[in-house]
Amino acid sequence: MRQNRFDTLLKIVLVVGIILIIILGGYILFQIHTERSTARDGAVETGVSGSSESSESVEKTVPEAPENIVAEASSSTAVSTESAQPDPSKYDTSDNWALILVNSSHPYPNGYTVPVTMVENGQATDSRCAAHMQQMLEDCRAAGYDPLVVSGYRTHSQQIQDFDSMTGMYVSEGYSEEDARAKTAESVALPGTSEHETALAADIGCEHNTAIDSSQDGEAVQKWLHENCWKYGYALRYPAGKQRITKIVYESWHYRYVGMTAAKVMYDENLCLEEYLEKYVEPFTSLEDLDRQAMKTLGLSYTGSALAES
Ligand SMILES: [Zn+2]
Repeated sequence: MRQNRFDTLLKIVLVVGIILIIILGGYILFQIHTERSTARDGAVETGVSGSSESSESVEKTVPEAPENIVAEASSSTAVSTESAQPDPSKYDTSDNWALILVNSSHPYPNGYTVPVTMVENGQATDSRCAAHMQQMLEDCRAAGYDPLVVSGYRTHSQQIQDFDSMTGMYVSEGYSEEDARAKTAESVALPGTSEHETALAADIGCEHNTAIDSSQDGEAVQKWLHENCWKYGYALRYPAGKQRITKIVYESWHYRYVGMTAAKVMYDENLCLEEYLEKYVEPFTSLEDLDRQAMKTLGLSYTGSALAES
């Protein structure tokens, strides 16, 4: 009897225990479910409560999307421009210092001064291309000709003097001052716009003819130099047929150092410096950047172009 009671008690305890376990388990499951849905609702709620923010960001995102695409497209364009390097066989960027453009519409940079080396006949040239000049003259002589550097580096005041001197000559011939200056400008660069002031150019004549004029056109020295100067990094700067571009008449004697790569391309493709720069350099480096780099290479600061003075 007592045993039965104990069994009954045990059964009750077991049943109650099972019920408690079921209730507890249910409670735990309910809690877990509640936590999960709270978390999910919370996320939704954040989105909703920040609806103004969120819709704003949506509003921002929507119109920005095309911009982003454009930005990506342009940045990919920029990347492709950056990755599109100059063809090294057409443009050697290490020659930038030698590619500086100096003409009537593009004076050399203000304060541009270079170390120069005496070549011959009391004439100097930019020290960085002096060896090229000397080798060219040596090889020309070895070929049986008699080249002579008649005019190399000119200071700014010398250029002013040269310009004024020729203007005076035309005035004495009866030209008006204005016409005389215009006439002079056809063959003598306005001070500030002469390549001679950069020390990269030289007028080369012959020992038997030092006149720097059209009498050089038929000289054998010029023929040899025209055909070979590119091998030394030089270009005939004012070729026949390019006056419209260079604004300087044909000068069979004026050679300009432009670097080995540019000289070959200009020779092969019959391009004057302006044409070469436009075709192969300016897509990558602006004329002003060339000026800046030229100044930087010389340890000088760029402050713009030198003003042409009369
Ligand atoms: Zn010259």
